Amino acid sequence: MIDKPLSPFSLEDSDYVYADYNATSPVSDSVKKSILEVLSKQVLNPSSLHRKGQEARKILQDARDSIYGIIGVPGDKEIVFTSGATEANNLVMRGMKGFQHVISAIEHPSILNSACNPHIIPVNQEGVVDLLELKKILSELKGNEVVVSVMMANNEIGVIQPIKEIAEIAHKFGAVFHTDAAQSVGKIKVNMKDLGVDLLTLSAHKFGGIVGSGVLIFNKNLVIEPMIIGGGQEKGLRGGTENVVAIAGLSAALQDIPDLLSKADEIKGLRDQLECELLNLASDVKIFSKDSKRLPNTSLICMPGVKNDVQLMHFDLNNIAVSNGSACSSGKVEPSHVLLAMGATREQAECSIRISIGPEIKPRDIKKIVNCWCNIYKKNTLDMWRHPSA
Ligand code: PMP
Repeated sequence: MIDKPLSPFSLEDSDYVYADYNATSPVSDSVKKSILEVLSKQVLNPSSLHRKGQEARKILQDARDSIYGIIGVPGDKEIVFTSGATEANNLVMRGMKGFQHVISAIEHPSILNSACNPHIIPVNQEGVVDLLELKKILSELKGNEVVVSVMMANNEIGVIQPIKEIAEIAHKFGAVFHTDAAQSVGKIKVNMKDLGVDLLTLSAHKFGGIVGSGVLIFNKNLVIEPMIIGGGQEKGLRGGTENVVAIAGLSAALQDIPDLLSKADEIKGLRDQLECELLNLASDVKIFSKDSKRLPNTSLICMPGVKNDVQLMHFDLNNIAVSNGSACSSGKVEPSHVLLAMGATREQAECSIRISIGPEIKPRDIKKIVNCWCNIYKKNTLDMWRHPSA
């Protein structure tokens, strides 16, 4: 049983700077506690009619109630638990049969790769969707059933889209609107009623929960066909015994959201300080979407002439975890589709890293990141001068 708060990293790693929150956030203490409680109570199958089964069912119901409350879900919506945002997004793109797909150019691969012959809404240089193009596409699709899917905040650049406005445009043209809010929940306020969206995706491990747990919230009047067929769980929308332990963790993580949001200004202050110091260090550094509405914790930084895998390795050797964009595309050689859609050059895309910080980050961690960045920059750009052909 956990009786004192744990640091997100082990004591031997107290020097470790974790700046890859958009890939996954460390599991919070309250989530660990609730998971251990559920495990120690031997919570069983929520479909069982006996008392132990009903205890499990109550955990699911409590989680649904928390989602309704904390995400501001209107009463005409239904909730289905999934294995994560990927499955929730797939359910929208694959489960709503007969719909035409309209998606932005910078969606997560779980939308991009599951959409069928999608109509792509371009983005401007800042990564914001082009609303005129959206209207044009929707007017051309008049008479069809259409689902528009635009993520609330982008995982790589952190840009926040004008979701309320997009939902209004979609509705004006008779389309259904989905937003992938996986990166937004816990970082900015997400209220489904205020946003006026019909479907919303979230992922527990982006705000303190554990990996493998997500949610799709959708209008009750929409017909969505299941992708996983089984014993009729989740009102027939997702077969298989629910992952009660992960869902209990999701519930606990939701309770922490007000606390996370109260730290957003402080996190933004540290992120801005980091960007300011880097801009002072090197005149050719580029920070993508710097002047746009962005998540408070995210920074995508181009160090000209130094490939992101080289940067990542140096950071890692210095006990700093950063990312070369989206965790899901790590290991692939292609440059970020997000940056290319914004008109960045291939070279810029190949030389950019994402720093995404969380509430545990301290000013001294920011100093450490800046120093490390500076060392990598000096070492590699000096090497280029010494070996121009390298
Ligand atoms: N959508 C967005 C915007 C994401 O950032 C991610 C995770 N990188 C996903 C979907 C997929 O989430 P999950 O890991 O829960 O499947």
